[in-house]
Order: sequence, then C-alpha cells, then structure tokens
Amino acid sequence: MNVALPEAAPLSPDRLRLTEIFLSLQGESRSIGWPTVFVRLTGCPLRCQYCDTAYAFHGGQWWDVDGILAEVARHGARHVCVTGGEPLAQKRCIGLLERLCDAGYEVSLETSGALDIGEVDPRVSRVLDIKTPGSAEVARNLWSNIALLTPHDQVKFVICSREDYDWARGIVEEHRLTDRCDVMFSPSFSQIRPRELADWIIADHLPVRFQLQLHKILWDDEPGR
Ligand code: SF4
Repeated sequence: MNVALPEAAPLSPDRLRLTEIFLSLQGESRSIGWPTVFVRLTGCPLRCQYCDTAYAFHGGQWWDVDGILAEVARHGARHVCVTGGEPLAQKRCIGLLERLCDAGYEVSLETSGALDIGEVDPRVSRVLDIKTPGSAEVARNLWSNIALLTPHDQVKFVICSREDYDWARGIVEEHRLTDRCDVMFSPSFSQIRPRELADWIIADHLPVRFQLQLHKILWDDEPGR
C-alpha cells in the first residue's frame, strides 16, 4: 500500500524524485512472488506504446536517501526493487542502489535499456529491457549495455506481435544472450494472447523464460500494487 512520506529538505544533496514506495509481491523477473518493497522513481525519457506506469512520468516528490531507506525498512521485506519510469534517468539513483545494497537488501533495478548500466553496483541484479519494434522505442536500445551483463542480471523482452517475437529471437541468437544471463519473454498484455507466445517458445525450443506479470493477474494493474 502507498504511503505519503515526509518530503526531503529542498537543498538536500542526495535527493531523488519519487512517485511511490510500496510493499507488494514481485510480479515478474527471477524474484517473482517474493514480498518486495518497490521504490518508483519519477520520470522517463521513453514513451513505449504499452507503458503501464505513465503516472510516473511527471510529478512525484523529492526525498533524501536516508528518508527512502527508513521507509523501505519500515516494510520489513528482504527484497527491494528500484523501478520507474526510468530510474537511471536520475543520476543519484546510483548512490541509492549502493546504499540499499550496503543495508543488506536483495536489490534489483528495472531499467529500460536505453541508459548506461555500467555504474550500477555489481551487487544489484539489473533487469534490462530490450525494446522491440512493437514498443515504438526500439531506436532507444543502448546496445553497449549487453557486453556489461553478468549471470546476476536479467534481460526482458515485452512481445507485442509475432513480428516482435521473431525479432527478439534473432536478437537472443545474435548476442548469445542466454549464455550471459536469464532471458525473459512477456506478452504485451492487451496485444497478444499469452498462450500464443507460450506456444511459439515451445515450438522453437527457445531457451528463454516465459512470464506473465503476476501483479496484473492479481490486481489488474492498479497503481501501487
Ligand atoms: S521505459 Fe518503462 S516507464 Fe518508460 S515509457 Fe517504457 S514502459 Fe514506460
């Protein structure tokens, strides 16, 4: 559930703009199902056509890192997911991730794949989107990120059509992505039937993880869930 937090002092040197902090279950990725505190940073330079967090593009409030850590601790979960919007669009996100790791949390970062992940603390599991043509943001993929991936990271494709699937399969093969880390394919919720994607993966013996977004099944995309 969302809570209103006290806003940081205006001149705090390590402040970030946040849309929400809430406790839920991780709805996707390798940590699916774990109680997780989500720290949603405000702002994103992309405009994917299927975006389900457009409410995080603008607004939000300034918080300093100590305030964020105190609120995260209040929820008492072991897993923390820093998400957005695009969290790396705020430079101070790097310091926040480091502080969360220092505090002993299992930290993941959900990022669009459009910004450099090179400075992210190696203790963080980076969940990197690769934007397909169907997202309308394929030109934003920063391909140099692929060389930085480790087995601790994860790559995610949101598949909008058969054409997207074929494109994503080609990228997986070209970059040998499954040798680098876990690779996940998700159906774009309103654009293809999940079963279609599942059948394509099975027919091709593709070594990727199919996933449905658990939070959409449980809570129908309600913000703060
Ligand atoms: S990168 Fe994520 S937050 Fe940004 S527009 Fe795309 S789906 Fe939405």
